[in-house]
Amino acid sequence: MTEKRIPITFYDEKTRPCPQLGGDVPFKYCRTKDDDLPCDNVLACWWDRFDIADFIGRHLSEADIARLLGPQRRNLASLVKLIRQADQTVDACPGR
Ligand code: SF4
Repeated sequence: MTEKRIPITFYDEKTRPCPQLGGDVPFKYCRTKDDDLPCDNVLACWWDRFDIADFIGRHLSEADIARLLGPQRRNLASLVKLIRQADQTVDACPGR
């Protein structure tokens, strides 16, 4: 739950090789590739660079997450929802 207050542009300058394009691309490209929604492969491509699932969960609506994941992977949208609920529970704990 470390991504809570970071802006959506926080990781935009990070780069990684793109398996589709062949060269390095900045995260901003991956984040906005499909009509301002992330590339379909964003979770698979960025999981080892930072907590991309958490980042997506905090910056996209549930409808956009479901659209991003497609019908076969909607259970991940449910996972993001659970992450949000858990985070709200932690925030509600006294002393935080
Ligand atoms: S998320 Fe998409 S655009 Fe970005 S590196 Fe992966 S395949 Fe390329």
